[in-house]
Amino acid sequence: MRSVADLVEEAALRRLVGPEPYADGLRLADAGAVRLVEFTPLTVVAKVADGTPAPRVELASKDGELAWRCECDEGITGLGCRHLAAAGIETWRSAPARRP
Ligand SMILES: [Zn+2]
Repeated sequence: MRSVADLVEEAALRRLVGPEPYADGLRLADAGAVRLVEFTPLTVVAKVADGTPAPRVELASKDGELAWRCECDEGITGLGCRHLAAAGIETWRSAPARRP
């Protein structure tokens, strides 16, 4: 079973959200805007301090695929948003180091 962290590696995440939201998400993550509320191998819930209320992002590993949702306007329509990118980047950074 692949963990959420396995599914949000940079290339995959970048493909999913697109270059601009990825760059914005990276800025949010670097600024410390992402708070991981729940962090397990198969489920990650994050709050991203970007507006009020802070959007809540859920990431899950489902059948080897990344399932996600975000509360923001874009996220609700299913578009990859910067919050998804930020949460994914933070998940990747917080995951235990793995062997190559
Ligand atoms: Zn969002």
